[in-house]
Amino acid sequence: MQQPKPPAKIEQKLIHYFTRRRRGGILSQLDWIQLLLCGLIIGLHVFLLKTNSLERVENIFLDSFFRGRPAMAVHPDIVLVEIDQDSLEAIGQWPWPWRYHAEMAGLLQEWQVKAAVFDLAFPESNLPYEDTTLEQALSKTEQDYLPVHLENKMEKKFWVHSLAVVLEPNRGRMIWAHSAPQLERDVHGLGHNNIQLDPDGVLRRIQPYLAYGGETYPHLALRVAYDYLGEPLPPSSSLDLPVDEDGYFFINWAGKWRDTFKHYSYSDLIRSNQALKQGLIPNFDLNQLRGKICLIGLSSPKIADLKVTPLEANYPTLGVYANVIQSVLTKRFVIPASFVLNLICLVAIGMVASVLFVTFRNVPSFIAGLALGGVWIVFSFLLFWQKGIWLYVFHPIILIIILFIFSAIYDHVVSTRERLQLFDLATRDGLTGLYVIRHFREILNQGVEEAVRKKEPLSLILIDIDNFKPINDTHGHQAGDMVLKRTAGIIFSCFRSKRPIEEVDFVARYGGEEFIVMLRKADLEDVAVKVAERIRTAVESAVFTWEDKVIPVTISLGVATLHPNESIPDWMVRRADEALYQAKRTGKNRVCTEKTIQGGPS
Ligand code: GH3
Ligand code: MG
Ligand code: MG
Repeated sequence: MQQPKPPAKIEQKLIHYFTRRRRGGILSQLDWIQLLLCGLIIGLHVFLLKTNSLERVENIFLDSFFRGRPAMAVHPDIVLVEIDQDSLEAIGQWPWPWRYHAEMAGLLQEWQVKAAVFDLAFPESNLPYEDTTLEQALSKTEQDYLPVHLENKMEKKFWVHSLAVVLEPNRGRMIWAHSAPQLERDVHGLGHNNIQLDPDGVLRRIQPYLAYGGETYPHLALRVAYDYLGEPLPPSSSLDLPVDEDGYFFINWAGKWRDTFKHYSYSDLIRSNQALKQGLIPNFDLNQLRGKICLIGLSSPKIADLKVTPLEANYPTLGVYANVIQSVLTKRFVIPASFVLNLICLVAIGMVASVLFVTFRNVPSFIAGLALGGVWIVFSFLLFWQKGIWLYVFHPIILIIILFIFSAIYDHVVSTRERLQLFDLATRDGLTGLYVIRHFREILNQGVEEAVRKKEPLSLILIDIDNFKPINDTHGHQAGDMVLKRTAGIIFSCFRSKRPIEEVDFVARYGGEEFIVMLRKADLEDVAVKVAERIRTAVESAVFTWEDKVIPVTISLGVATLHPNESIPDWMVRRADEALYQAKRTGKNRVCTEKTIQGGPS
């Protein structure tokens, strides 16, 4: 029995497939396809960036950057005067008579503060108010600021959004909530104190200006900050503050509310003032207030409208003002990157990731992706910390993840395909397309094992082309090859009714011009001999022509079957070989079985 030599091509193919990504850095065609598909994914991702659909996740990154950044040193002239729990206990239930605010305005004037910002409403509806001292106090002072507030009663849900745009009268009535006109007339400045929360309920941005009824109001904190700097507030059209695509100004949170800015209790200031007036020693040196911006507002959790911010869940509005003013005074802003800059970063990272995933596979590829994502997060955090520039962090991260998953799937598909090709190359004969004897032996071993276990019959047919050498000698080797190929095809076609053939019967090229067939669940007389005879007739009746000459082709067949309690396939092969020899000896072109061998089976 001769062992077929594997085609020399196999070795070349193996080398080609296993080294396809490493040949002198030149990318294979498959790599180019992968890169092209990566490019397509990047393109789709740009669409995601354009529609801003991941804004919420981006905001979570922004929040964590605020929390990860060390607290900033704040401008020393920003001071908070809190209406806190102590003040409520000292002065009484809220709202207080306005004379306390009159006293506060007076004392702040006396101690020469730069600005006294009352984030409190003194509504007109309260007129005539119980105490005219506030009006008198404000008319005497020059540094007071009051807020104005816009409210859309009809569309309460949307009032924040609609503020900037609702100018059409039919879209709901706008309520102009303001302090009594007498008070507003006497103050140094007015500004809006509207607050818009992001869709997730977190306060991150303010509207620098709000327009209503033909008038434009700056945010109260901006008004105060520019007055402090002695600069005219630029008109909304030429605002030199960094704003995002919607025209909103990001609040640059300096730090946690109680740790960052200097803050005093409202009642402490009032008490100290009264102590001074009575000639007593105050427990608080009011001199500390000289030249300061004093932000007066509610901080007691019971009455204040506390906001959720990236740093803390309970941030009083006066803290929000403090951060905005601090940002303008120190010129330290959050600068949202433009769409183009975000786009450039996204595409660049996508390209780097694609090249990494084409170059590395499996674990190294995963590590490379992880490293790229890590470097990107650290880079954007440092940029945010040092320069205040806020790039979209999550878009590139999710792109890296998608590209990695895609590349892993692509690689799996490619390597599976390669494995299948390699399997075929290793198990199939190059000329006839039938399985080679090495693979047949494995299948035969399994078949015998199964037949023994299930106590099922199993038979074997060994086939040899008659007088093949003369065919080669007369018509040439190419003609011989043609005969081999066609004979293989005819043998194979004899089993077509039992598909898939490999699961039931199994045909292989046994050697030069020999073939072998394994028949599962087939006994000798009833099945195997009949099949053998069918094959013999099929080959005999087929017409083989070569260069217009007909070549008569016949085959001899030897049939053997697995004996009870026999577990070594070689014995059966040997019996089939002996039967084939018998067929040759007794005239060729016939089927012999192990039973017809003279002297009986060995
Ligand atoms: P018999 O009827 O007794 O089987 O005689 P035979 O000539 O067929 O037997 P033999 O074993 O003497 O000859 C087999 C020949 O098959 C020898 C070898 O040159 C030829 N052969 C083996 N493999 C191939 C092949 O792949 N292609 C071609 N063309 N010939 C092959
Ligand atoms: Mg032979
Ligand atoms: Mg032969």
